Amino acid sequence: MNKIAEQGNVHLTADVLIIGGGPAGTWAALTAAAKGAKVVLVDKGYCGSSGATAPSGTGVWYVEPDKGLRDEAKASRFSKGGQLAEHRWMDRVLDRTYANMNYLGISGYPFPLDDQGNPYRRGLQGPEYMRLMRKLVKKAGVKILDHSPALELLADEYGVSGANGVRTQTGETWSVHAGAVVIATGGCAFLSKALGCNVLTGDGYLLAAEAGASLSGMEFSNAYAISPTFSSVTKTAYYNYANFYYEDGSIVEGAGSQKGRSVIARNLLEGRQVYAKLDKAPEDLRPLLRVSQTNFFLPFNRLGINPFEDLFPVTLRLEGTVRGTGGIRITDEQCGTGVPGLYAAGDAATRELICGGFTGGGSHNAAWAMSSGSFAGEGAAEYALGLGNHAADRKPTGLSSSPLINRPLHHNPTVDRTAEYVSAVNAEVRPYDINLFRTESGLTASLSRLNGLWKEQRNQEIERSGKGVKAREAEAMTATARWMYNSALARTETRGMHKREDYKVLDDHQHHRLISGGIDDIWVKTEAVAKEAVLQ
Ligand SMILES: Cc1cc2nc3c(=O)[nH]c(=O)nc-3n(C[C@H](O)[C@H](O)[C@H](O)COP(=O)(O)OP(=O)(O)OC[C@H]3O[C@@H](n4cnc5c(N)ncnc54)[C@H](O)[C@@H]3O)c2cc1C
Repeated sequence: MNKIAEQGNVHLTADVLIIGGGPAGTWAALTAAAKGAKVVLVDKGYCGSSGATAPSGTGVWYVEPDKGLRDEAKASRFSKGGQLAEHRWMDRVLDRTYANMNYLGISGYPFPLDDQGNPYRRGLQGPEYMRLMRKLVKKAGVKILDHSPALELLADEYGVSGANGVRTQTGETWSVHAGAVVIATGGCAFLSKALGCNVLTGDGYLLAAEAGASLSGMEFSNAYAISPTFSSVTKTAYYNYANFYYEDGSIVEGAGSQKGRSVIARNLLEGRQVYAKLDKAPEDLRPLLRVSQTNFFLPFNRLGINPFEDLFPVTLRLEGTVRGTGGIRITDEQCGTGVPGLYAAGDAATRELICGGFTGGGSHNAAWAMSSGSFAGEGAAEYALGLGNHAADRKPTGLSSSPLINRPLHHNPTVDRTAEYVSAVNAEVRPYDINLFRTESGLTASLSRLNGLWKEQRNQEIERSGKGVKAREAEAMTATARWMYNSALARTETRGMHKREDYKVLDDHQHHRLISGGIDDIWVKTEAVAKEAVLQ
């Protein structure tokens, strides 16, 4: 690795740069390194404890290579996802996930044993998983820059060739010149404070779009998770054991976790607080539930609430595309984006290929993160190594749509409007009556405000500093909301998680993907789903 310290700043060269160090980024780093590439990985937080997986237990789409079991697995969410998934991709992801989970087993992941003494490989505890991934990545010789968010991609006429950003703990800037870049920055949860998700502000979408990549499925972006009003934990599996109540103890008819979140949302919209109680959990299971998701119970313990016996107030917290499925459009089997040198993986990329317009969490996302990460790492390494000596001579420039500057801006409340922009975006994406229950009038009115917000931010000078990172996050969230709502307007039907109040049913004529792009002028067009996507 060629490291040149210059005026306190960090400059590195590599074959492959990975942006984001969650499961997708770390798998990309491992597979790129295994191909012989020199790899640098940068993360906004600390690789190993940052992002959506790190604080949670995750179910994984781990299915034995048995035709019957695999067919069943593929069919399980096909209809729920609006029949937009593709056989070929589901097969590839099931194969790679199976191999990767077995690799984790031989690498020391402590899978629990079932009654027959076989390792149970259908789930991972986030903290153990990500601690192991960091260890494996370091062992593979990958250079990790923690607390180092990327601010912009670098490119020349041949394609993307690096990125730069800041090191938020030291105030230094960093730049990495690389033959290829993998974006693995996760989804966008709009700073809703869902646990692990406040680093996920759609940065990668904006970086990719600024480089000319497009997005896909951005209408599938309105995941809301049930959580206690007093907690940031959005693990929802346990709400399958819940009944939902009004304050007087009467049941909220139709409310539920799998189905029935809309009922909760409508009550909340009308100002009626909804409460939950996990009273459907069998007595003998309760101790096990407490130990398998310890962080679920922590906020209850702090307040002296027993969630199996006491009512507690709930809300629906926005998780946006984290448990949605839209993201950067994938154009080949190596998770290329169609822009030379640029790859995408995990929640940053569209997951429609394996679950269409619906995931709800549980298993597909984790499988996609580790598989697409692996494909992207391999693809990026092959591409970069194929560039040969040419790579070293490249003189790329930054792609940020707003100018990034090295001198500090004078921060006074009238100049630094980032907090104002963030709350303005949130006023558009959080309300259930705009984003969950979508209508043409609601979306159009919101878009007009979002377009104004984008214009205000566009061309603002952004300093390369922690404050600049926040300003870029606000831009990324504004851009994400615009791709979401333009796509949602174009899909005049209800499919997957996208619900239109004015078009309540699925329309067979709209069995296509919606791809979108553009920075100032947003465009949306249709793309056919592969014919073989139709399951028999
Ligand atoms: C509560 C909850 C429960 C879930 N449960 C399940 C489950 O049971 N099964 C399942 O399949 N899925 C589940 N998911 C979804 C799953 O967690 C995600 O799909 C998975 O984490 C995606 O991995 P990733 O690497 O793409 O993104 P993440 O794990 O979110 O990692 C993204 C990384 O990118 C970094 N980053 C962001 N912006 C930048 C930037 N500008 N520069 C540098 N780095 C950046 C972040 O710091 C972070 O480390 C759950 C999600 C949540 C929120």
